[in-house]
Amino acid sequence: LAPVVTIDGPSGTGKGTLANLLARKLDWHYLDSGALYRAVAWTALRDGLALEEREEESLGELARTLNIRFEPAAEGPVRVYIDGQEVTQELRSGPISEGASVVAAMQPVRDGLLELQRSFRRPPGLVADGRDMGTVVFPEAPAKIFLTATAEERARRRYEQLRAHETDVTLERITQELRQRDERDAHRNVAPLRASEGAYIIDTTNISIDAVLAEALERVRR
Ligand code: C5P
Repeated sequence: LAPVVTIDGPSGTGKGTLANLLARKLDWHYLDSGALYRAVAWTALRDGLALEEREEESLGELARTLNIRFEPAAEGPVRVYIDGQEVTQELRSGPISEGASVVAAMQPVRDGLLELQRSFRRPPGLVADGRDMGTVVFPEAPAKIFLTATAEERARRRYEQLRAHETDVTLERITQELRQRDERDAHRNVAPLRASEGAYIIDTTNISIDAVLAEALERVRR
């Protein structure tokens, strides 16, 4: 089985950035599991499925049969396609972030995405980014990293990211949305966010991404 390094933590801790850099540095595959939950929400809305408990089973089936493709770009973020349609930017929107967090609290959806997530584990190796990569999807991963940062700093980073594409974002709104999602991610009954046993915890509030990368690389190469 190919090696895998898991990178978990709440949003805005720099997980995506770290996972991308690490995957490039090691020349390994990259799994953005958050994009899968976003894709489930996007497809459900496209198909007119309500993101509600009564639709859990249909949403689980949708997750199991998700037709998603990632295409690394020479620069900028990895491009995401659902049923052949490019959705890279749309997946980052407020409503889809919200919807992803709702469907992620449904066990059938989480189960439905398991096999797809594990299929990314191919030679020479995988960098897996998410909330439960170390706890549920790849519990036997040889290297596990868990990132943290203060809520203020995480909101500020999200805001900087979104501001590049949206004109009507405010730091207040982002902070509020982030708090709501943190709350739901931490207190949901299924796969609540927590550091896996044996995970190496890095607080990224006050350190540069280069420093985070150096620490992560050291863990992986051990
Ligand atoms: O990381 P990202 O913000 O793209 O994730 C979107 C949502 O998907 C999160 O709010 C979280 O609820 C959910 N998620 C999850 N498990 C993962 C990845 C994401 O529950 N492994």
